[in-house]
Amino acid sequence: MSVSVRLRNSPINSPKSSPCTSPRFLHKHPRSPAARRSIMPVVVIHGGAAVVSPDKVQLKLEGVKRAANIGYEVLQSSNGTALDAVEAAVKVMEDDPVFNAGFGASLTLTEKIELDALIMEGTRMKAGAVAGVSKVANPVTLSRHIMEKSEHVLMIGDGAHKFADEVGMPATKPEALVTEYACERLNYFKSFMTAVNSGMGKSSDHDTVGAVAVDSAGHVACATSTGGITAKQEGRVGDSPCVGSGGFADDFIGAVSTTGHGEAIMRVCLARHITGLMQQGMKAQEAAVAGLEYMKNRVQGYGGVVVVSNKGDIGVHFTTECMAWAYRKGSVVHYGIQPDDDLTEDGSSDSSPL
Ligand code: ASP
Repeated sequence: MSVSVRLRNSPINSPKSSPCTSPRFLHKHPRSPAARRSIMPVVVIHGGAAVVSPDKVQLKLEGVKRAANIGYEVLQSSNGTALDAVEAAVKVMEDDPVFNAGFGASLTLTEKIELDALIMEGTRMKAGAVAGVSKVANPVTLSRHIMEKSEHVLMIGDGAHKFADEVGMPATKPEALVTEYACERLNYFKSFMTAVNSGMGKSSDHDTVGAVAVDSAGHVACATSTGGITAKQEGRVGDSPCVGSGGFADDFIGAVSTTGHGEAIMRVCLARHITGLMQQGMKAQEAAVAGLEYMKNRVQGYGGVVVVSNKGDIGVHFTTECMAWAYRKGSVVHYGIQPDDDLTEDGSSDSSPL
């Protein structure tokens, strides 16, 4: 005997439903005029989840504010998209030696530069990423070339260098990206480390850069760039270039960029996890907090995130001691570095490059 069970309110079982009228397909696409009307473009920046020494606090804050202002101006320009904004903002921080990305990146245990980066756009969910590169000053831009000019998502090492050459990016000597501060940090770690892994899980040694943005058309994007964790093993790749871990962007939900202990972030797919929570109805801030709590409880990992929903709702949270962050809304820049900071200043005059 067969028993047919009809689920109450189930669109699949309702005699009037058809696949095309299922509520699942009735979400307004973010590009539709109705969805677009109320979106105020915004770019949200992080400068890495870490412990920041007092002499670096001001420099980090200046750096994230500058990146937020530059990203915002890109969003305000006539053709500026969320994708352009996150690339421009991350580039500013890659060029700024106070951050662990591009010039100023952390070094491997063997004193090498190995950079990782990711960029992703939410419309077609296209992504480009690099891992273990040392001859490009702006890995975020190389990632964008990979996204737009290759069939691939992630390229590594020498293959990525060759591709950079093919698309006309100038080659940089790896030594040109090394700063005195990166060497000091490596020596400090070497001086007390008994094993590289003893330093990897600590909440003190992560300071990647990242940005998320939504533009007035409701498109979202994310970008993340890093030198990885100081004294990492040669060949180690962290979360930053991995879609769903170091970042994620989907116009139907929003965008996330992460920082923190890469091994933990990869194991919980932090960026995708947070957008999943948003998909279930959480606001960006709630999802940021819940995602990081999950990572802490589930795999004992610490970090930080910036989040934006496709409606411009913002989330900023970290479980490390500090994370420099900033965003600009209208002429006001919001920023902070300690938990619960929300400082503000007029941003209309500060967008000069370094
Ligand atoms: N997540 C990066 C990594 O593990 C480090 C960081 O965020 O600073 O490579």
